[in-house]
Amino acid sequence: MVELKALPLAVDLGHEEVVLLHDRDSGLRGAIAIHDSTFGPSVGGTRMRTYPSFDDAVVDALRLARAMTYKATMVEMPFGGAKAVIMGDPSREKTRPLLVAYAKAVERLGGRFFTGCDMGIELRDLKVMQRHTKHLSHADEDSPIDTSYLAALGVFEGIAAAAAVLGRDFSSLQVAIQGIGAVGFHLGKLLVDHGVHIIVADPDQARTLRAARALEAQVVEPDAIYDVEADVFSPNAMGGILNDDTIARLRVQAIVGGANEQLLEPRHGDILNSLRILWGPDYVVNAGGLLSLLYETKQADVAGVEERVRMIGPRVADIWQRSHEEEEAPGIIADRIVEERLAHGRRAKSESVRRTKYDD
Ligand code: NAD
Repeated sequence: MVELKALPLAVDLGHEEVVLLHDRDSGLRGAIAIHDSTFGPSVGGTRMRTYPSFDDAVVDALRLARAMTYKATMVEMPFGGAKAVIMGDPSREKTRPLLVAYAKAVERLGGRFFTGCDMGIELRDLKVMQRHTKHLSHADEDSPIDTSYLAALGVFEGIAAAAAVLGRDFSSLQVAIQGIGAVGFHLGKLLVDHGVHIIVADPDQARTLRAARALEAQVVEPDAIYDVEADVFSPNAMGGILNDDTIARLRVQAIVGGANEQLLEPRHGDILNSLRILWGPDYVVNAGGLLSLLYETKQADVAGVEERVRMIGPRVADIWQRSHEEEEAPGIIADRIVEERLAHGRRAKSESVRRTKYDD
């Protein structure tokens, strides 16, 4: 018998609720993982991609949902974490009936889950879903908020914090940027505007050309970015790029980037720490995009959101300080901060439920 990984993982990661999606008529298959709603409704994007099996799809949703809880809790947002996955190739299998069936499933959760774009799901898909559920974010094309700019602004503040820890004058820094897409380009512009020299790599030549022309960036081949001698390496493309192979090649003093899930395994955080390479935990550094929800839910104006994003610098500096004092990797410190906040929040919530019952 095949042993399913998803169910034990849901228990291990402490998921609140996992909804499996199957709609016979539209062919929708997927899952909505609600990890935690201690501090508010759970938020997380919807991802559509092919998976080897249904079990793998659910496992992806479970891991990503937990990461959302950690990100939201770290930046003290009144939200919890969730994530949804839809199985299938978005270029061939994303149909209107499938999106409608999915939107109806989101609506049935009655506001416990808010979702938006992720890999394979675009703004125009949300427009289709909008007629069937209210529980969507990032659906407004005219919004003055650009989540990729906010994500880049948080990374920029993290790099500024790293420069302070390293005792370096900011404008004399050299930063190697992996991926010059939406986040990478905004970051490059912010850095160059502050006199920083950037070296970029991206397999998309139109993007590297734009960076060379508009930002006077030095361009290297995608694989060569790990060998660049610089002060900071900033990964802004994909996950898993801090591993045994790449860490052995890096010639930088700090790693601060927007990509999610940068460490291939948690032990790679310990290796970086033992090499005295300062690593900004990804979910702390790249929380700028998520903070845009404060604008969408009318809890802050644009300036208020940017002010919150700028706090990412002091936040990561505080984690590095504790990491130094407690002689543990920054990722471990960050997880501990989140877990303490969650435990405290859960205690307060169950206490108030207990008191309500008593008063009734
Ligand atoms: P994007 O698709 O606009 O840009 C990613 C870039 O990486 C592309 O230009 C792509 O060509 C490039 N790339 C792919 N493989 C590469 C390789 N081997 N070497 C170098 N470059 C490579 O995506 P984005 O929105 O800029 O997001 C980048 C990362 O930041 C992702 O990991 C994403 O999950 C994360 N992130 C994004 C946001 C946001 O709001 N956009 C927020 C938080 C985190």
